[in-house]
Amino acid sequence: MPAQIGKTENGNALHYSVGAIIKLQGKYLLIDRAIKPSGFAVLAGHINDGETTEHALAREVEEEGGLGIASAKLVWQGEVENNWCSRGIGIHYWNVFECETTGDPMLFTAEAKSIGLYTIEEMKKMPFDPAVLYWMKKLHIL
Ligand SMILES: [Zn+2]
Repeated sequence: MPAQIGKTENGNALHYSVGAIIKLQGKYLLIDRAIKPSGFAVLAGHINDGETTEHALAREVEEEGGLGIASAKLVWQGEVENNWCSRGIGIHYWNVFECETTGDPMLFTAEAKSIGLYTIEEMKKMPFDPAVLYWMKKLHIL
């Protein structure tokens, strides 16, 4: 599925992405990415051509974690540079949500090695996907 492509103010190509911050039992749900960008990340992905942000969020959360969304609150939006994806685009415009979910998390994607729940203390020692780390810091989670 082609990812939606836009342009920065300077005319550079960008992709649009969604990220889902999900807290269960007081811990954060993360996957260990098997493909680039590697590192631990929240459930996240591209917004496809013709897809709404809300649909992309629901799709990624289901595809990567087997969860439904009960409610979602937009907590951060912005461009992240030096954020290269496997499709050769280096800038992503992120829409980050805090989500309440339904169901039990399960790993469904070949794009990740594992899925798990982690405390802030554990997360501080883990290698993160740089873009996710960037906005987790902006949100003062890490
Ligand atoms: Zn991309």
